[in-house]
Amino acid sequence: MEIQERKMKVEKRQSVVLVPYPFQGHLTPMLQLGSILHSQGFSVVVAHTEFNAPDYSNHPEFVFHSMNDGLQGRDMSMPSLENMYDLNENCKAPLKNYLVRMMVEDGDELACIVYDNVMFFVDDIVTQLRLPSIVLRTFSATYLHSMLTILQQPEKYLPFEDSQLLDPLPELHPLRFKDVPFPVIDNTVPEPILEFCRAMSDIGSSVATIWNTMEDLENSLLLRVQEHYKVPFFPIGPLHKMAPSTSSTSLLEEDDSCIEWLDRQAPNSVLYVSLGSLVKIDDKELIETAWGLANSEQPFLWVVRPGSVSGFQWTEALPEGFEKTIGERGRIVKWAPQKQVLAHPAVGGFFTHCGWNSTLESICEEVPVICRPILADQPVNARYLSQIYKIGLVLEATERSVIEKTVRKLMLNEEGKEMKKRVVDMKQQIVAGMQIDGSSHKNLNDLVHFISSLPS
Ligand code: UDP
Repeated sequence: MEIQERKMKVEKRQSVVLVPYPFQGHLTPMLQLGSILHSQGFSVVVAHTEFNAPDYSNHPEFVFHSMNDGLQGRDMSMPSLENMYDLNENCKAPLKNYLVRMMVEDGDELACIVYDNVMFFVDDIVTQLRLPSIVLRTFSATYLHSMLTILQQPEKYLPFEDSQLLDPLPELHPLRFKDVPFPVIDNTVPEPILEFCRAMSDIGSSVATIWNTMEDLENSLLLRVQEHYKVPFFPIGPLHKMAPSTSSTSLLEEDDSCIEWLDRQAPNSVLYVSLGSLVKIDDKELIETAWGLANSEQPFLWVVRPGSVSGFQWTEALPEGFEKTIGERGRIVKWAPQKQVLAHPAVGGFFTHCGWNSTLESICEEVPVICRPILADQPVNARYLSQIYKIGLVLEATERSVIEKTVRKLMLNEEGKEMKKRVVDMKQQIVAGMQIDGSSHKNLNDLVHFISSLPS
């Protein structure tokens, strides 16, 4: 009944244009949002860069438009400030021309543009064309709140001394100086990075923000962030569970054969190891991780993304014969169907870099974690997972003996079992938020009404 009403409201099939930031952890939630909006009666157009273009065949319900990003031939394995600014500059004309064509030539009714906060150039275009826009935040409110707090008074936090690393960050409990949510060089954050983060955290003329998070998880910080932006906010996460489509959003080919391997493992016995789509480690850490996992004597499924070990193509740095030594007890793949892996009954723990998508996916499948944060929002998420939610153990060092001990603690000890109980409770809260009277469900209804009633 409710959905019927909504569909009538948007029966003209107003279009929503989505502008994702072309990295896996950002592209995925934007496509999931697209799937949600499409199911609510909107036409969904995805205006994407040529770099890391999504696979159209997985999303027949969307219209795709490719923008010339001018980044051909660049090393994009890690987003640099230069590349991110160039992306923002180069996509201006292609997006503007496309929107004008949609409105003038095709006569489309554009309800609004939803853009990833890293693609902040969109604000210029929508201001020129007088179109309403909404920002999608693909990370936690906690992270954004910590970022905004420091950006407002950087001199209060930066630079800091080595001796302060474990001291609390003022007003940002439970974060410490070592968790500062920016790239730190020589105990400070260079001004160009602060400048970029200011641009990224600014919502310009946007009329609302959408969040891949849940009120039940982050309500107080969401309210603090809203005080800052003063526009309606819609936490409608977890997007991967709210989205009706389960089509793959992967930029890399998923190795499904690991599911058959998981089928052969005992319930709750396997540690899944993945550091996401971007971070790199050195060969020393790869080797220590390998022996730490082997010595823990727990079965493990380990994603080693090609190019993720500095200076190597894939796993060449592993000791010769390592895979033979571990035999059937361990499996190494280039890229896994992560959500399916986490949902598998054999998986009992997740060794993660604590990216926000991985964090939500793990909680939703009731899997406690070992935190190995490296950059961006990961230290903040790790701190919350270990100190506030208490469903994660922080890896205190990357030596093999520490890895072995931490894996055993999570997978075999009482402490790990307590974490499992807590993550089961957290999952229940999330499920409640997705029910008909739950917060994410209600916020989604409000969002659909909000977009349908924007002046066109
Ligand atoms: N992922 C995947 N297969 C893998 C590793 C990761 O599908 O082998 C997906 C994972 O499910 C998540 C995304 O890649 O949705 C990673 O996003 P996250 O925010 O966790 O980290 P990022 O890659 O942005 O650092």
